[in-house]
Amino acid sequence: MQHRPYNFAPGPATMPESVLTQAARDMLDWNGCGMGVMEMSHRGKEFTSIIEKAERDLRDLLAVPAEFHILFMQGGGLGENAIVPMNLCGPLAGTAQAAEVQTDFVITGGWSQKSAKEARKYAQVNVAASNEGNQHRHLPDPATWQLSSQPRYVHICSNETVFGVEFPSLPDLKALGCDAPLVVDCSSHIASRPVEWDKVGVAFAGAQKNLGPAGVTLAFVRDDLLNQAMPICPSAFNYKNVANNQSMYNTPPTFGIYMAGLVFQWIKDQGGVAAMEQLAIAKSTRLYAAIDASSLYENKVDANCRSRMNVPFFLRGDDGLPLLDAEHPRNAAFLAGAKARGLLNLKGHKSAGGMRASIYNAMPLEGVDALVTYLHDFERTQP
Ligand code: PMP
Repeated sequence: MQHRPYNFAPGPATMPESVLTQAARDMLDWNGCGMGVMEMSHRGKEFTSIIEKAERDLRDLLAVPAEFHILFMQGGGLGENAIVPMNLCGPLAGTAQAAEVQTDFVITGGWSQKSAKEARKYAQVNVAASNEGNQHRHLPDPATWQLSSQPRYVHICSNETVFGVEFPSLPDLKALGCDAPLVVDCSSHIASRPVEWDKVGVAFAGAQKNLGPAGVTLAFVRDDLLNQAMPICPSAFNYKNVANNQSMYNTPPTFGIYMAGLVFQWIKDQGGVAAMEQLAIAKSTRLYAAIDASSLYENKVDANCRSRMNVPFFLRGDDGLPLLDAEHPRNAAFLAGAKARGLLNLKGHKSAGGMRASIYNAMPLEGVDALVTYLHDFERTQP
């Protein structure tokens, strides 16, 4: 095989090869300083230069406005599901602790469902809209959302990794008559398209899909939201503490930040987020077109909200119905044949069944072309 296998894993996911090669070169000696990054003090000048460049590059890439803090945290997306309410549901300036703090959630798949469940430990949760009744295949129209009168925040997951549902643009809460900040879990499509910061209060993302290895979580927090943490919020997860200490309140995930920094530089070298978006459009268009044109494969997500990053699909059985069970002989044969061609990790999430191709920024167009060729070839072998 001339190239590495194409890895369609949902995260941790494929990384740019040049980033891995660079990291291997730096492993024992970063920049001639005689230490590998894992061995450096997080407060030394070497690591300080790494994190400062990473933050600058990310701010630049995503055009993050000055009123947003960029925080390098730990805890992942699920950690943020608790960290967000603990930071946004405390006493407001000049008031006692509110008796019942309200939050609103829009459910568009498994990740927003998990977020709502976690928030219930800290606040009242109103499900403003849900696509559950439709097997998570459409986006509830914002005009139909039942927002509560004064929620502390409104949470969405802008790309649902499991069911492959993506908001084509962020909702404008102000236009819906709601002043609350929008909280966006953008874990699985960050840096694949520009962010509409004027609509956002907090955005967060684990790095392990589009930005680097697991262990780093990015949080983007608008300055005016730093002062309403609940007293129980752990100091290390308090946005204000983390912001005031340049993500060094406690030891940050240094190696992960260094790796993410290499990915930021790689994205810049590719032409930035605009280039990533064009590539994502090209890859996802080709893959959905191949699925839609076939009689063996199907994806039933509404065309207006199909994810450019995570493409779930099902093989049909002889009765025409989707084969959910990964152990079904046709699914097993599909996965084995894919693996033999160096197309890895196409099995769907256990809660959805079937298949899923995650085609993050680091997946080249050639990887998607190889998958499309395989889809055709496999279909021809079926009765
Ligand atoms: N949100 C989304 C959209 C995700 O895709 C994931 C992980 N796949 C998570 C949250 C959870 O992230 P973590 O495992 O880093 O906590």
